[in-house]
Amino acid sequence: MTASDDPPFTGPHLDYGPANDADGTRVVRAGLPAEEPYEPPLPGPVFAAHYHLPGEVEGAPYAYGRDANPTWTQLEQALAELEAPGDPDAEVVVFSSGMGAISAVLLSQLRPGRTVVLPSDGYNLLSALHERLENFGVQVRTAPTGGDGQLAELEGADLLWLETPSNPGLDVCDIRKLAAAAHEGGALVAVDNTLATPLGQRPLLLGADISVASGTKALTGHGDVLLGYVATRNPDIAAAVRGWRKTVGAIPGPMEAWLAHRSLATLDVRTQRQAGNALAVAEALAVRPEVRDVRHPGLPQDPSHQLAARQMSRYGCVVSFTLSDQAFANRFLGRLRLVNDATSFGGVRSTAERRGRWGGDAVPEGFVRLSVGVEDSVDLVTDIRRALDQAG
Ligand code: PLP
Repeated sequence: MTASDDPPFTGPHLDYGPANDADGTRVVRAGLPAEEPYEPPLPGPVFAAHYHLPGEVEGAPYAYGRDANPTWTQLEQALAELEAPGDPDAEVVVFSSGMGAISAVLLSQLRPGRTVVLPSDGYNLLSALHERLENFGVQVRTAPTGGDGQLAELEGADLLWLETPSNPGLDVCDIRKLAAAAHEGGALVAVDNTLATPLGQRPLLLGADISVASGTKALTGHGDVLLGYVATRNPDIAAAVRGWRKTVGAIPGPMEAWLAHRSLATLDVRTQRQAGNALAVAEALAVRPEVRDVRHPGLPQDPSHQLAARQMSRYGCVVSFTLSDQAFANRFLGRLRLVNDATSFGGVRSTAERRGRWGGDAVPEGFVRLSVGVEDSVDLVTDIRRALDQAG
C-alpha cells in the first residue's frame, strides 16, 4: 500500500536483481550470509564474551564481546539494507535500546558550547537528555514538530533532531526542507524513525545524516525485545557512535539481536496489515461524536496527511485521540477486549493507554494513544465501538 502518488521507493522493477527487489522481498533476505550447503539460512545467536585472538588485535573482526559480535554484524547489515537499499556506504550500529541509540548520537556529537534543536513534542524521555545536555554546557533549543517549527531555531545550530511522526501527538515535519536548511547552516540532521520504520520512511534518502530508531516497537513487533540502532552514511558518525557504544556498554544481547533479525522477515506483512488496520480504526473513531482530535497521518483529513503522503510510504500503526476526561478514557480502556491497556507501540497485539498517566507529555487528561496490531480489522473496530458505547 503506497501512500504517495510519487513513485514508490523500490519500484517499478525495471531491472531484475537484488538492487531492485521490493521491500517484501528485501526483508526476508536482508543481512543473510551467502548460501552454504548444510548451513542455516540465518545462523543462530553467537554467545561469546571473547573470541580466540592470536597475535595482534589490529584488524581482528571479533576480539571482545562489548566491541563486536557476528549476530550484531548480520543484523546491522540487514538494517543498512532497509534504511538505504543498495547503498554500500550505509552503516548501522545496534544498541541495547532506542534510548541507548539516541543518547549515543546526542552525547557523541555534542560538546560544551554546541547547539542542538530538539522537538518540543518528541518522545518524553528526550526531556531527560535535554536537562543532561544543558548540564554539560550544550545549548538546547526546542520547537514543535508541526508546521516545521524547528526551522525558526536553526541559526548557528550544530545538530537538528527531528522526530516525525512525533510521539504521541503524530505531527509530521518536512524532512527534506528541514535537512536542506540545516545543512545550509552547517548542522547535522538526525531523524527518530521509530514510528514509521524503514519501510514507512527513509530519512537517509530524504536528506538526513542519521536515522535513529527504537527497534523495540514495530521493527521487532512482538513486544518481547528492547533494541535500538543508528544508521548513517557518514563513516565519522558511525565510528563515533560505535565508540560510544563500546565506552558505555549499551550493547544488545546476542539473543535480542537474533530475535530482531528473525522479526525483520515479517516486517513488510506486519506493517502493511497494521497500517490498514490503523486507518480503519481512525476512520471509525473520527465519526464518533464523543471522540475528539483523532490523529493518524494516513487519515485524509489529518492536518499532516499531505506532507506525510510526500515522504512516507506507510503511515504507521499509531492512532491518537481525546475523550472528554480521565474517567471516560479509563472506562473505555477497561471495556476493550482485544486491546490491552499497556504502553509502547508497534506490536502484533493492539495496545492503548491514557498517555497522561505518565506525566511529561503535553496532552489532555482524556488523551489516548492506541497502537493497532495485526488482528482482523472488523473484530478490532467492533471491539473499539463496543467499548466506547459501554464507557459512555
Ligand atoms: N523514540 C521514540 C519515538 C519512542 O517512542 C521511544 C520509546 O517509546 C524511544 C525512542 C525509546 O526507545 P526504547 O524504549 O527502545 O529505549
